[in-house]
Amino acid sequence: MKHYTASMRFDIITLFPELFEPFLRVGITRRAFEANADGHKMVDVRLVQLRDYAPGNYRRVDDRPFGGGPGMLMMAQPLADCVDAVRADRGDTNSKAVPVILFSPIGQRFDHALAARMADASSKGVILICGRYEGIDQRFIDAYVTQQISIGDFVLSGGEVAAMAVLDAVARLQQGVLGDTQSHIQDSFNPALDGLLDCPHYTAPQEWRGVAVPPVLLSGNHAHIERWRSEQRRAVTAAHRPDLL
Ligand code: SAH
Repeated sequence: MKHYTASMRFDIITLFPELFEPFLRVGITRRAFEANADGHKMVDVRLVQLRDYAPGNYRRVDDRPFGGGPGMLMMAQPLADCVDAVRADRGDTNSKAVPVILFSPIGQRFDHALAARMADASSKGVILICGRYEGIDQRFIDAYVTQQISIGDFVLSGGEVAAMAVLDAVARLQQGVLGDTQSHIQDSFNPALDGLLDCPHYTAPQEWRGVAVPPVLLSGNHAHIERWRSEQRRAVTAAHRPDLL
């Protein structure tokens, strides 16, 4: 059997790896995460249980914040040992070749451009760290983290949902994951369509609750349909997200 090294390896450091398992097995994106007949995965997701790198019988990963205040913080040492082990397993010992990304409200806002960069087959993938509790000891962030990513101006209880958002967006951009190879190019934000929002879509029946489908879509004239869609994309973007124009 042929053995491929997946070009894109996503190591996900988390206290709750079980949250990812159903997500990786459903829907169109499973094609990106599951091995094909040759054992190759487009996006090779490795779930890493942070607790395995915590010492003692209690496998403790958190402690109280110095200076007081509510909640607990993730301690630096288990995270450092965990990232070191992942790097060693990747063959990246003592190098910063692979980005170490922490999910955090202070991070850069995740968007199409960032997803596209992470989805690029030439990338070696990334190490993603899902925070929990009130956050993480700053000394670990300063020593290890190369980039912080936020999925929006709200606070989650952990980075896992953010990591799934990133994995989903990256999987959709893999060649052949969406049924039609051109499909993702027609999605919202794609530079191939000037970064505009998607146009409205209609399916059967032709009339629903007295409302007919726009006649141009039934015309069979592909040039007219394309012109209509492109006008709609512009109109939808102007109405909902003028900042994208
Ligand atoms: N005390 C922190 C919030 C901690 S929430 C603050 O006020 O900023 C716990 C973890 O959830 C974080 O460490 C981070 O990994 C994740 N998280 C929370 N909100 C997020 C967001 N908007 N985007 C990405 N990750 C987020």
